Amino acid sequence: MQTNYQEILNHIYDIVKAGDNLGYVASYIPELATVDPEKFGVTLTTIDEQVYSVGDYQERFSIQSIAKVLSLSLAYKLLGVHLWDRLGVEPSGNPFNSLVQLEYDLGIPRNPFINAGAIVICDVLYTELEHPYEDLLAYIRHVSDCPNLTYNSIIANSEKSVGYRNIAVTNFLKSFGNIENEAEEVLEFYFHLCSIQMSCEELSRTFLFLANHGQKINGEEILNIGQAKRINAIMQTCGFYDEAGDFAYKVGLPGKSGVGGGIAAVLPGAYSIALWSPRLNEKGNSYRGVKFLEFFTTKTGHSIF
Ligand code: GLU
Repeated sequence: MQTNYQEILNHIYDIVKAGDNLGYVASYIPELATVDPEKFGVTLTTIDEQVYSVGDYQERFSIQSIAKVLSLSLAYKLLGVHLWDRLGVEPSGNPFNSLVQLEYDLGIPRNPFINAGAIVICDVLYTELEHPYEDLLAYIRHVSDCPNLTYNSIIANSEKSVGYRNIAVTNFLKSFGNIENEAEEVLEFYFHLCSIQMSCEELSRTFLFLANHGQKINGEEILNIGQAKRINAIMQTCGFYDEAGDFAYKVGLPGKSGVGGGIAAVLPGAYSIALWSPRLNEKGNSYRGVKFLEFFTTKTGHSIF
C-alpha cells in the first residue's frame, strides 16, 4: 500500500505545532537572532520526484552547517580517500565548536561536520578550486538545481564579527600544519559557505542525491555509490553534534542539522526530508525538527532501522 505522505505530514505538523516549542533561536551569530522563532516548514521529496510540503516550506533560511555536507561532497569527489589524511570520520561527542580534542589529535579533526573538520574541508577546496567562491557556489547551484542561490554576505559578516572560536580553531589547526592557506582566507570562505540560504523545498531537493545512491534524479552522478554510502554514514554518526546517538535512537535517519534551525535527512532508496524551525534544543538541534522526525519515522516505520 502506498504511504500517504501528505496526510502524515499534515497530521504530525499539527501535533508538533500545537505542542511546546522549547529552546532558543541561536543568537551567538547576531543576524540569526532576528529570525521569527515560530517559523516551521517541512518538505519531503521522494526519489520518484513526488513532493509533499507543509507550513513555511518556501521561505529561505540560513542553512549554516547543513552546507558542510555539500562542501564535503565536493572535496570527497576531488580528493577521494586522500581526503582522510587530513581528518577522521569518528563522532566527537563534543560540541561542534570545541577545541579540546584537537590538541590530543595533533590537529586532525575527528570528523568533517564539527567546525574544525569543516574548516579543513574549506582549506582543501580553497587549494583545489581555481575560483573557490564561484566554483563552490556553482557546484551547490548545480546539485540543488537552484541557479539563484547565493552567499548571504550580511550573515557571513555577522558571523565574522563574532567568530572568535572559529578564528581560534583555524589558527590552532594551522599550528599543526593542517591548514595550507592563510587562516583569514579560509575562515572567510567558511563563513560564506555557512551563509547560504535555502527553503525546505530547495533543501529537500538538494539532498535527494544522497537518497538516490549519489545520483541526481536525472541520473547524473554527483558521487559514486560507495561515496554516497559513506557520506550517509558520516551523517548518521556525526550529523547532529553531540546528540548524534540520541537522534539515531529516536529518528534513525542519516542527516545534518544547522544552528539556523534546519535539518536535512534521507532514507536511502526512498526520500529526502528537510525541516526548519529555528528554536534549538540544548544540543543545538531544532527542537521541533527533531520531534517531527521522531514522530514521522515512528508512524511510517520508514527509517534505516
Ligand atoms: N557557522 C556556524 C559556526 O561555525 C555553523 C554552526 C552550525 O550550524 O553547526 O558556528
